Amino acid sequence: MNQQPPFELGPIRPVAEARSLLIRTTRGCPWNKCDFCVNYQDMTFSIRKVAEIRADIEAAAQYYQGHPFTSCFLQDGDSFLMKTADLLQVLALIRQHFPTLERITSYGRAATMVRRTPAEMTEIAEAGLNRLYCGMESGADVILERIHKGTTVADIIKAGRMARDAGMEISEFLIVGLGGRELWQENAMQTARALNEIDPHFIRVRTIGVKVGSRLEQTWKAGGYVLQSETDSSANSVCWQRDCRASVAITPTTTR
Ligand code: SF4
Repeated sequence: MNQQPPFELGPIRPVAEARSLLIRTTRGCPWNKCDFCVNYQDMTFSIRKVAEIRADIEAAAQYYQGHPFTSCFLQDGDSFLMKTADLLQVLALIRQHFPTLERITSYGRAATMVRRTPAEMTEIAEAGLNRLYCGMESGADVILERIHKGTTVADIIKAGRMARDAGMEISEFLIVGLGGRELWQENAMQTARALNEIDPHFIRVRTIGVKVGSRLEQTWKAGGYVLQSETDSSANSVCWQRDCRASVAITPTTTR
């Protein structure tokens, strides 16, 4: 195999998708304004044409020569911005060329997902998209506003429940410490409350890291954001775990 695959790849994938086939449906993030995030900072968002994606799927099938992938992740930030008919066509093509797949996954951005009808979500789930990684980050509106998440807790809960009801597995990502020292308790309590409403299959917990070049770094340097100490973060984790019914996996960085 060549080092460079003959199809387009995006810059990131969830850690759980290390062994997955990667198929790029969109480039970048349509929002690109969350203060802590630098994932697609210098990239203009675009939705790829089905013909382009089809060519990539065919090239990937030829490149991997029958490799029995069990999971495929749709890159980059917002597959749900594709027209439903286009997304269904892409899912069918992926399954046709990679018949061993058991799982097709994607990031699920709440602000986009809530524009889908329950019937559309079911159709998409039945076409094979059966797990979503959702960046809720926090269950507190005051924190989501401060970090310019571009969505509300109500929409995060609605999107998560819609996807669950459609038959998809949900993995919610949250960030311990996102509220800084000032709002740590609000972050813990409101996030536990939102998680209980969604009742996701998985919860991925990351601790806040101030990325170089992020807007959070500017706010932090200007004194507008005070990081929690390790003791505060531990209290935050203990607090929300006490109030959250779900079991969790904790990772030490903000890596997706
Ligand atoms: S956290 Fe997600 S929605 Fe926010 S800018 Fe980054 S990729 Fe976009």
